[in-house]
Amino acid sequence: MKIWASANQKGGVGKTTTVVCLGGLLAEAGHPTLLVDLDPHGSLTGYLGRDPEGADGGAYALFQAAAQGRAEDAGASIVETGCTDLSLLPARTALATLDRQLGTREGMGLVIARALAGVASRFEFVLIDCPPMLGILMVNALAACERVLIPVQTEYLALHGLDRMMRTLEMVTRARPRPLPALIVPTLFDRRTRASPESLRRLRERYPEQAWRSVIPVDTRFREASQEGVPPSVAYPRARGVEAYRLLLEELLDGPIPDRAAVVPASTGTDPASIVSQSTRSAAREMERQKFGETVSAAGESSHGNGGCK
Ligand code: ADP
Ligand code: MG
Repeated sequence: MKIWASANQKGGVGKTTTVVCLGGLLAEAGHPTLLVDLDPHGSLTGYLGRDPEGADGGAYALFQAAAQGRAEDAGASIVETGCTDLSLLPARTALATLDRQLGTREGMGLVIARALAGVASRFEFVLIDCPPMLGILMVNALAACERVLIPVQTEYLALHGLDRMMRTLEMVTRARPRPLPALIVPTLFDRRTRASPESLRRLRERYPEQAWRSVIPVDTRFREASQEGVPPSVAYPRARGVEAYRLLLEELLDGPIPDRAAVVPASTGTDPASIVSQSTRSAAREMERQKFGETVSAAGESSHGNGGCK
């Protein structure tokens, strides 16, 4: 079972779209896929027709169980989406209260990793949609995954937010026993504007090893597909944007994408420490304390059984 997370501390950059589009394509190719919504806003959950205000269980139930010292049964929290081979572990808006409730409790950083290890025989792929802030949910996602995709909107100021995210990943990588390859996915690329090509050039200049060689173009079909509540690949299989995600998936599965961990280059004029907030630093310390080591690699090593076929 492969676990990928879609993360960026900035909102509106295409994190959820990346998860739902890659998920749709994986399912369509016959890979049983689980989408995990760890964003309290529940956009992915809402996209797939569930109400994050009402939904019982979901990821929130896993944290509640862990807090009470009960075994976490992810299987009971997973729902079907109506698309073959595509399941969802929904979010609840109550997830927003977790940092306050449990943020300082030990052992809360591996709740998702452990829960996913319990359903490893059901799925070939897990895609985690992260919230746009560093806290217990993002820490859980980054502890559980083996690769992180960082959608970055190609616009002015994109680099500033990206440096912050890459700095977070650098710290996470230090706390993990295994490296965490990071791939920057330039999104919402509009070549008719001045901002998109210019920011893409700067992004590649600054992160030549981590930036994907291609881009996800701006495509209004994504918004239309979200209104229909099905993955873009189902609603508009030949849309330009879907084709771009198809190429990304091909390259992720067996293409030329190198496994590069996040490294923030020495920047001119910006003190790297200054782009890391206090909360980021305390979350990183928390990660170190929790010793990701043994438990995460145990989760990563579980096999997916019979090819994940139902
Ligand atoms: P995030 O999860 O990072 O907040 P979303 O995936 O929800 O971002 O995308 C934000 C908005 O932009 C949504 O309305 C989505 O439909 C739209 N969007 C995302 N990617 C594209 C794209 N490549 N082209 C056009 N619209 C997009
Ligand atoms: Mg989102």
